[in-house]
Amino acid sequence: MADEGLIDELRTAVSGTVSAGEPLARHTTLKVGGPAAALVRAESAGDVAVVARVCGRHRRPWLVLGRGSNLLVADAGWPGVVVTLGRAFRGVEVEGESVVAGAAEPMPVLAGTVARHGLGGLEFGVAIPGTLGGAVRMNAGAHGRELRVVLAWAEVVRLGRDGAVERWDAADLEMTYRHTALPADAVVLRARLDLAHCEPGRLAAEMEQMRRWRRAHQPVNSPSCGSVFRNPPGDSAGRLIETAGLKGYTVGGATVSAVHANFITVAASATAADVHAVISAARAAVLERHGVALETEVVLAGFPGAGGL
Ligand SMILES: Cc1cc2nc3c(=O)[nH]c(=O)nc-3n(C[C@H](O)[C@H](O)[C@H](O)COP(=O)(O)OP(=O)(O)OC[C@H]3O[C@@H](n4cnc5c(N)ncnc54)[C@H](O)[C@@H]3O)c2cc1C
Repeated sequence: MADEGLIDELRTAVSGTVSAGEPLARHTTLKVGGPAAALVRAESAGDVAVVARVCGRHRRPWLVLGRGSNLLVADAGWPGVVVTLGRAFRGVEVEGESVVAGAAEPMPVLAGTVARHGLGGLEFGVAIPGTLGGAVRMNAGAHGRELRVVLAWAEVVRLGRDGAVERWDAADLEMTYRHTALPADAVVLRARLDLAHCEPGRLAAEMEQMRRWRRAHQPVNSPSCGSVFRNPPGDSAGRLIETAGLKGYTVGGATVSAVHANFITVAASATAADVHAVISAARAAVLERHGVALETEVVLAGFPGAGGL
């Protein structure tokens, strides 16, 4: 089999686990997407660097995966190696008002942990179903807050620089709306957040209110990737899609949500091609009706010329 050499080399060199032909639908919140040649669960920065080296030798692409909550993987899958951070990248250390957390920490868990320590500023994370690493990459935000506000630094391993570990101050990351200047080959390993003392009961109440708002305004009971498109300056992608008449628009098992038009929900029968077709149709309708070219927030992987629509 064509992937045997690649898999053998990975199994020999990494301390984490290597799954050959792993279906990526199991690892994305959209629950679609074909297999990766291999999925590596890295347990050290060295493991992450090994993936890049082995991919280089086998001329295969690599992809970093958090919780797959902002990722649309093609039905054909990913032709190379997907690397995700394992248990070694969990953990939270609190010192005064500063918190250093592993990049694999799920944001809702991290938000709850720091709130119990009486530290405020990360409440918005309660409703973001990704990892801290993914949140740094995306400058994730909600309820009027963004990670940018609390991030002090991110420690990364550079896949294009033979696994060099670097610390990037938040100021150098130039974080703007759902964007950072983090180099494409940087994998976030851990990050420091600077928070502020706050009464835990108040933080718990605020997070509960955010959860309630989500249940009322977003299709939380159906699989999705959250907001599909970035909001254009001064407007909302949801409003533009809704007024272009796309609410309820369906291709196969993928539908523009009737609850929030910037969400695409998927049925069990959905394929990545269905989701992709709905994205293309929404984009075309908004361009025709409003003259606005929407850009995807969701990251596309394995599509020809992928990166975004
Ligand atoms: C129901 C729902 C609601 C959502 N609501 C919000 C919201 O309110 N606000 C918001 O901002 N987002 C929201 N999202 C989107 C998503 O949760 C965020 O973008 C999140 O930050 C993605 O994290 P992840 O770990 O799932 O990353 P993934 O989806 O796995 O990956 C996303 C990108 O980050 C990269 N990446 C992942 N981990 C790392 C790492 N350690 N180092 C470097 N790059 C990495 C990937 O390569 C990819 O390019 C929502 C998603 C869902 C499903």
